[in-house]
Amino acid sequence: MAKRKIALFGGTFDPVHLGHTAVAAAAAEHIGAEKIIFIPAKRSPLKDSFPEASGDDRLAMITLAIADNKKFQLSDYELKKPEPGYTLQTVRQFQAEFSSGTSICWLIGADSIDELPYWYRITELIDACILCAMFRAGCKPPDFAKFTESWGPKQVEKLQKNVIQTPLIDISSTEIRNRLATGRDVTNMLAPPVADYIREHGLYQSKAKN
Ligand code: ATP
Repeated sequence: MAKRKIALFGGTFDPVHLGHTAVAAAAAEHIGAEKIIFIPAKRSPLKDSFPEASGDDRLAMITLAIADNKKFQLSDYELKKPEPGYTLQTVRQFQAEFSSGTSICWLIGADSIDELPYWYRITELIDACILCAMFRAGCKPPDFAKFTESWGPKQVEKLQKNVIQTPLIDISSTEIRNRLATGRDVTNMLAPPVADYIREHGLYQSKAKN
């Protein structure tokens, strides 16, 4: 019998936007995943800066953004655990929670591929889960051929097999933060309840970053 599949979607989600929910829905469909669990991180281990919004605000915004999709769930696992948090530990945690009949997929956008060599125990992570790379507007289609020498052909083949041709949606949290900080419109980038939350809580009003 085919294994059940659960997809985990990590990121800072500062804030969660329509690109996140659209590609997650497309990935769930492609994979045949029973559910997609959004897992906001305390911070990106590879970035110097912390997210601008608090963990509680980011959780609240994701709750609003995913309310309409029954397959979407939210976990505060990474926000609650002491630093540093690594994807491999999170994958292991969810593997322990679900039965051995469940395959765990981890979703990443094409922009994250060049960072993978710096991820904690990346080759163990590739073995431990199904790492699914998604297309992203403004990025080349995911291609892992350049990692063959460092990771070996088997792992590269596994990664290539799990590339998902998600729709190209040209939205980033950085662009949203910059627009909000300079009073520009973000209407088509956010779920309306998330836009309302940001307005009501006065988030991202400070200086533009990046
Ligand atoms: P920032 O601009 O702050 O870096 P972001 O928009 O990339 O934020 P993250 O929270 O860092 O959002 O993204 C979480 C995950 O979702 C990452 O793997 C990222 O590559 C992916 N992702 C984000 N936006 C898109 C998009 N529009 N299309 C495809 N993947 C995306």
